[in-house]
Amino acid sequence: MDTFIQFAYVVSGALFIFGLKQLGSPATARRGNMISSLGMLLAVISALLDQGIVDYQWIVIGVLVGAVIGGAAARLVQMTAMPEMVALFNGFGGMASLLVGWAALNPDAATFTLVTIILSILIGGVTFTGSMIAYGKLSERITSGAVLFNGQQIVNSVIVLGIFGGAVMFCLEPANHLWLYLVIALSLVFGVMAVIPIGGADMPVVISLLNSYSGLAACAAGFAVNNNILIVAGALVGASGIILTQIMCKAMNRSLSNVLFSGFGSGKTETTTVEGEIKPITVEDAYYVLEAASSVAIIPGYGMAVAQAQHVVKELSVLLENNGAEVNFGIHPVAGRMPGHMNVLLAEADVPYDQLLEMDEINPRMETVDVAIVIGANDVVNPAARENEGSPIYGMPVINVDQARTVFVLKRSMASGFAGIENPLFYKDNTRMLFGDAKESIGGLVREFG
Ligand code: NDP
Repeated sequence: MDTFIQFAYVVSGALFIFGLKQLGSPATARRGNMISSLGMLLAVISALLDQGIVDYQWIVIGVLVGAVIGGAAARLVQMTAMPEMVALFNGFGGMASLLVGWAALNPDAATFTLVTIILSILIGGVTFTGSMIAYGKLSERITSGAVLFNGQQIVNSVIVLGIFGGAVMFCLEPANHLWLYLVIALSLVFGVMAVIPIGGADMPVVISLLNSYSGLAACAAGFAVNNNILIVAGALVGASGIILTQIMCKAMNRSLSNVLFSGFGSGKTETTTVEGEIKPITVEDAYYVLEAASSVAIIPGYGMAVAQAQHVVKELSVLLENNGAEVNFGIHPVAGRMPGHMNVLLAEADVPYDQLLEMDEINPRMETVDVAIVIGANDVVNPAARENEGSPIYGMPVINVDQARTVFVLKRSMASGFAGIENPLFYKDNTRMLFGDAKESIGGLVREFG
């Protein structure tokens, strides 16, 4: 039996790796997801046969309770609240590792096991509260900006020292639960402290980093309970989270330490002065311009997700193509509220993958684009990132829609985006504002074509 279980673990590990590889391209991502899920099913079944489980009754109760809560949450959640839900799930993953580590506690355990137990507890704790704060920021229940106060770095250093001190003492005196409780409490506090100073446009980095932490916590828990597949799966999540973090940092032209320790836009008071005036346009007039356009770039952002406009956007793109225009979508890596957000929405609406261009591909073509249609994007098309050294997002690469001949910006008001900063794009000579809910505005354009 044991040989069979270990063999099944190897097969699940291989399925995870193969699935991850397929997730690397939108064309194969769906299959990748299926393959990884199959790997997980095999891993769960094998784990249930492993190590002589004493009581299946509690496992069945746990599965039922979890399935009811998870199923209801997934059904009830609004599509627009998906990023927050992902943050919550991430946090629960951290909490699960904390609890598994805690449950594996045995004062007679070898030092190595004690180290892995305390690691799963502390990384799990940081992940749990950090993800809860990320949830609050994404749902804008708490300020999405950076929260900074005097002496923050010192307070954080003291907490980190406390965690390390407590962890070392725990390994030396595992029977004294005081050290365990100290580490649990301080890691929960540290999760909050680590995430509050990060805000605004830096949030994508936190999301992917927390993702990675949840993997590392699971990996440590795998060592604590001596389960190979948990070690492998945790390591894979940890490593892919780090790679994603790296991609996000690159997308924002920031180093990880700069994001983690400097506070978004800290020391910079926003100095974007806007010149020019707002020029609104009606759906009818926008249609006349689009009808004459031979190349159109569509740049979606978070507002497209809020409006759930992806299907009518696809309809518009087909109408424009039938009218003889070349249509491309420009996807910024941090557009929306979770990595890959725009790709997921556009894939749902069956937009062909070869029409999706990354920022580096679409920017060199922008000067030849007749009309750039910005659909609920704001921060990712803000030219202040290029033009204004005083801007908190200065240096972050953006999609240069302002270089197109005409820009239509579809949004409901003059409100700012997630980073909370002014956008001079709205005041440029070649920009026209098409105010209203993106789904309604695009629906109006589709009707004009029809
Ligand atoms: P932004 O948050 O900058 O802007 C979204 C815009 O959409 C708003 O200005 C809003 O304006 C508009 N909008 C909202 N609802 C609608 C609607 N129904 N119809 C039309 N417009 C609407 O989005 P971007 O995608 O440009 O940038 C993403 C931001 O989020 C970046 O700052 C990024 O760093 C951050 N972020 C990204 C994460 C990721 O992983 N991708 C994670 C966390 C944060 P109005 O209210 O006037 O309509």
